[in-house]
Amino acid sequence: MNVDIVIIGAGAAGMMCAAQAGTKGRRILLIDHADKPGEKIRISGGGRCNFTNQFCTPKNFLSNNPHFCKSALSRYSPQDFIDLVNRYNIAWHEKSKGQLFCDGKSQQIVDMLVNEAEKAGVQIWLGTDVLDIHCPQNSPKNRVDTCIESGSENHMAEGNARSGFIVTTSRQSINCEKLVIACGGPSIPKMGATNFGYKIAAQFGLNIIEPVPALVPLTFTDKLKEPLKSLAGVSLDCKVSHEAVDFEEALLFTHRGLSGPAVLQISSYWSAGDMITLDLAPRTPMFERLKTARELSPRQSPQSFLSNYLPARLAQMIAAGQKFDRLADMSDKALCNLALMINSWMVKPAGSEGFRTAEVTKGGVDTQALSSKTMEAKAAPGLYFIGEVVDVTGHLGGHNFQWAWASGVACAQDL
Ligand SMILES: Cc1cc2nc3c(=O)[nH]c(=O)nc-3n(C[C@H](O)[C@H](O)[C@H](O)COP(=O)(O)OP(=O)(O)OC[C@H]3O[C@@H](n4cnc5c(N)ncnc54)[C@H](O)[C@@H]3O)c2cc1C
Repeated sequence: MNVDIVIIGAGAAGMMCAAQAGTKGRRILLIDHADKPGEKIRISGGGRCNFTNQFCTPKNFLSNNPHFCKSALSRYSPQDFIDLVNRYNIAWHEKSKGQLFCDGKSQQIVDMLVNEAEKAGVQIWLGTDVLDIHCPQNSPKNRVDTCIESGSENHMAEGNARSGFIVTTSRQSINCEKLVIACGGPSIPKMGATNFGYKIAAQFGLNIIEPVPALVPLTFTDKLKEPLKSLAGVSLDCKVSHEAVDFEEALLFTHRGLSGPAVLQISSYWSAGDMITLDLAPRTPMFERLKTARELSPRQSPQSFLSNYLPARLAQMIAAGQKFDRLADMSDKALCNLALMINSWMVKPAGSEGFRTAEVTKGGVDTQALSSKTMEAKAAPGLYFIGEVVDVTGHLGGHNFQWAWASGVACAQDL
């Protein structure tokens, strides 16, 4: 079977790329090993898909090369995706901080993308395993061979221009001119996530930045887990910092450790062995407040004072660690220590919950190996990488989908 383009991965980036390239009259085959397309879209945003962020800028992304995402993001904006969603009459709302969610189910976004792809004549093969990818002209070894045989660089360039790929699948083999890898990262393997994209990148000699779980809950050491287990389910607004980066959002205590948006965000910056700092009452100078309270209501207990600022269970647990029954009995040093526990609680997580629950993967195909304009591999013309498989990782809040849409469109413009 011959097509112009094979796209592997019918997720967010793959479907967007297929739909856009299809409108240019290219013959496109979109392949996925899962039985349904866009499974991560379906479960995203708690089932309502936080499909973009109105305030998305390159600053919302982590990458070894922070400039790489700029070109694609500037050419497909959040408004472009909103226009598409509006054309399908999908109702949406802003939750907070520019995060846009469907009013109804995420499946609407999947259906929209499938419809766009089918309208553009894209053929979709689901439940199809890719067994082998072969490119005689472009594999690094053969490129060297071609060069040696011809004795000229021009001949090699000519060979590349005519190059193509043979994709062997569980259905049949396909010859294509261009191949797009859109298989995401390995987070949430039970959703069909794999590291297949990295294997293909390695096959073509592309470097991989070590993939690690990101936007992932952090776990307590055994020493902290036991005393803090009664806090499971408590949530509060908090500022979580790691070195120069901080996020002020909700924090959630779990049976294993810490979660909630603030912790998921900081997890993308955290490495094993690092400390994080929690300010449990952001913008409230606790030492000053404690000193004032000691003066005005000296018989107040630490627990009663703390419950003005913290959820009851948390106030009770922190107060239980105090030796004093009344604020009047506390020295400045004791007040200062208590204030530090609230404004600057330093925690060394034991680890993260790993790829099992991580929303995304940080790292991936090294952007140095790709064109930021087209997503094409510099060393393997005709081969493209888009979406999460690339070393571009967004903050929580719709940025990862915006990268999937924008990188998919940037690639499609070159197909
Ligand atoms: C629980 C959860 C909630 C999320 N919520 C949000 C949110 O609200 N907003 C947001 O911006 N981001 C969210 N994300 C992140 C977002 O889902 C991803 O960043 C985005 O889906 C990446 O798009 P992608 O197309 O690169 O990869 P994916 O959407 O993961 O698509 C990859 C596709 O490739 C297929 N595939 C993998 N391996 C193979 C193989 N060997 N052969 C064939 N096919 C293969 C997979 O089946 C899949 O269909 C969430 C992620 C999770 C896990």
